Amino acid sequence: MDSLTCPSCGASLPVETRFVKVVICEYCGQSSLLKNRSLDPTGEKVNLASVDSILKIGTTGTLRGEPFKVLGMLRYSYEDGFWDEWFLELQNGKKRWLQEDEGEFTSFGKESITSPIPPYKDINVGSSIQVNDLNVFITEKNRATISGGLGRLMFQISPGDKVEYVDGNASGKLLAIEFTPEEINLSIGESISLDEIELDES
Ligand SMILES: [Zn+2]
Repeated sequence: MDSLTCPSCGASLPVETRFVKVVICEYCGQSSLLKNRSLDPTGEKVNLASVDSILKIGTTGTLRGEPFKVLGMLRYSYEDGFWDEWFLELQNGKKRWLQEDEGEFTSFGKESITSPIPPYKDINVGSSIQVNDLNVFITEKNRATISGGLGRLMFQISPGDKVEYVDGNASGKLLAIEFTPEEINLSIGESISLDEIELDES
């Protein structure tokens, strides 16, 4: 699979891995599900995020020495601003994402949840909860809306979706727990300094 045609504007859109589930056209904002090797428009046009970042869709480089390619991004908005999440494909089909918040980067990977997590409403900032084998100190609790995006995504999103999330830390690691109506997602990450991201010449 190399490229497919946007069903809305006809642009040629690269689709390089079988893990891609949603494509957001970088030209017209049409959001399409990838089905049977063709793009099926969901009827939604996404707000294209205007990006002021060192990263772009298609950027290649290394993160702590490990080669990556940027496949897509989502913008999360909350009452005080927004942050962006850049989806990276690493070698061997591994995935990570870089959260960019006012120029600060955090690298996250998804982890499975092996112990029950309390419901969002029962978690309080300043308290601790047990997550897997970690005792997590909660530093933030908030709601955000997916307000825009670009490129290829590995999971099915609906722009406008709201998520509830808590952030915390444990043993020098950063944890982010996202509560959607369908599922709870746990991500564990660490801060990345700018000199740990090297971009290829383009
Ligand atoms: Zn398009």
